[in-house]
Amino acid sequence: MNASPEIRFELEVAAVTDVGTEREHNEDQCGHLLEGEACGLLVVADGVSSAAAGETASQTAVAATLRTFDEQPPGTATPKRLYRAVQQANIEIYDLATMVPELRGMTTTLTAVVVDRGELTAAHIGDSRLYLCRDGQLVQLTKDHTVAGEKSRMGLMSKTRARSHPDRSVLTRSLGRELIVPIDRISNRLYRGDTLLVCSDGLYNVLEDDEMTPLLRGDDAATACQRLVDAANQRGTLDNLTAAVLRVLDGPERPEASAGLGARIRSLFVRRDG
Ligand code: MN
Repeated sequence: MNASPEIRFELEVAAVTDVGTEREHNEDQCGHLLEGEACGLLVVADGVSSAAAGETASQTAVAATLRTFDEQPPGTATPKRLYRAVQQANIEIYDLATMVPELRGMTTTLTAVVVDRGELTAAHIGDSRLYLCRDGQLVQLTKDHTVAGEKSRMGLMSKTRARSHPDRSVLTRSLGRELIVPIDRISNRLYRGDTLLVCSDGLYNVLEDDEMTPLLRGDDAATACQRLVDAANQRGTLDNLTAAVLRVLDGPERPEASAGLGARIRSLFVRRDG
């Protein structure tokens, strides 16, 4: 049945959220779980602070996603478990916001990613981000659902301008705002040595991609999360901040890597001083 029974999997997951240096409340929330050695889940949510009860929105989003993922009947395909969990989280936030006057209008971002036997599945809404770090290169796998992000993708605004634009945090989509919500689905294959980073805008607004990359390396996933949060706090971010990291410690070897492509690319950057 299994084409490659000899492949071993080992994942490591961790997440750290921090109130930051300027705010009184942390409206970010994160969670993670590991099922055996081969299946890991990361969840990051950033409650919208202009709405009432952003804190409740992000807490509900993370708790409902983890719980519903865990409660799915045995044998349910992993991507289906994730999508059901995120839809359930949306319904729970929407219902709370409808029933409790103090919570009216609450909403949140949500980026949830599961890796099961090397297969990545992500569900994403809002402007938290999922990055893949491979061979020392950080690549953003999610799109920012913000006014500035949409304009930048339509070619109406440069990426540099989108980064500092006043509308950079104005969400075009978020969880709990409507009963039916379009959620981006992402799938990818991961290999040994790959690292995933899920983070809120409090982190990536003050750290450039190439500053985050070296902080992801090193001892373990929890240390990497803490290093990222500490680095952002040293910059003095005005926002709450969250970093969640998944590392593929053992898994299939990347085909290109075994063909020596990585080495060939690196050789292009080797200086040949005479
Ligand atoms: Mn934020």
